[in-house]
Amino acid sequence: MYAFTLERPTTLADATKLAAAGVKVLAGGQTLLASMKQRLADPGQLADLGGIKELSGIKREGNAFVIGAMTRHLDVANNADIKAAIPALANLAAHIGDKQVRAMGTLGGSVANNDPAACYPSAVLALGATIHTTHGTTQRKIAADDFFQGMFATALKDGELITAISFPIPKKAAYMKFVQPASRFALVGVFVAQTDSGVRVAVTGAANGVFRHKGLEAALTSSFTAASAAGVKIDPTDLNADIHASALYRANLISVQTQRAVTKMLG
Ligand SMILES: Cc1cc2nc3c(=O)[nH]c(=O)nc-3n(C[C@H](O)[C@H](O)[C@H](O)COP(=O)(O)OP(=O)(O)OC[C@H]3O[C@@H](n4cnc5c(N)ncnc54)[C@H](O)[C@@H]3O)c2cc1C
Repeated sequence: MYAFTLERPTTLADATKLAAAGVKVLAGGQTLLASMKQRLADPGQLADLGGIKELSGIKREGNAFVIGAMTRHLDVANNADIKAAIPALANLAAHIGDKQVRAMGTLGGSVANNDPAACYPSAVLALGATIHTTHGTTQRKIAADDFFQGMFATALKDGELITAISFPIPKKAAYMKFVQPASRFALVGVFVAQTDSGVRVAVTGAANGVFRHKGLEAALTSSFTAASAAGVKIDPTDLNADIHASALYRANLISVQTQRAVTKMLG
């Protein structure tokens, strides 16, 4: 590991100033510390967000849940209100990694990192969530459709912090993850949601970043059945192929996991 200094801000204002000055923020360290240990990252200066109370917690605002960026996966998984209103989101959080990852990993860290096999980005995209950020003195609300920009890339500017994410409550939703057994990440995960703005289908693990599948969305809008999803041909052209699965295998998994999600939603 390269040498680094550690700041421990206790207010969002202080963290914002540090981040805007080029200090790298540390959430649960589940990705960042591992990268630093392997000398893949050399941030020099870190600011631990763990002491900032206003960044953690879950609250209901109208027909949405606003979840603080530093909220741990375990807290989303165990939250009674989320379990009741968006069980698919609680279930997704409950199956991230292992117990340690769920105890330390955070919503903001996961979404800022935008690992192409991470689970949360698919929920953010399928539910049409909004990412709340702060950057110096500027605040932004970024629609999920504009946020994810391919492998480890997002709409965040250097020094911009995610403060919270608001998730509109869907009519129904389900997330089906086909687990990569060594890492517990998604080999392919599909999040299907029936929202006020229609059916949304977000796929993770299959390509260079999370994406919406417009063909599945159109088919499920016209007939919300597993058979309708099964009728959609999934093009493997731009899908990942690696030692774990070919592009064709991943294409088949997108279809199968979507059908399973729809079957679950139909009860
Ligand atoms: C063994 C293992 C298994 C895992 N399995 C899964 C899985 O099944 N599904 C899944 O979805 N994920 C999985 N993860 C990822 C995990 O869920 C974490 O969310 C992810 O690693 C990010 O970790 P973190 O929240 O601790 O953020 P950190 O590692 O602290 O930070 C990650 C990056 O985000 C930046 N960052 C952090 N917070 C903010 C913020 N508020 N604003 C702006 N930038 C920020 C940091 O600067 C850094 O660049 C796994 C991780 C491990 C180690």
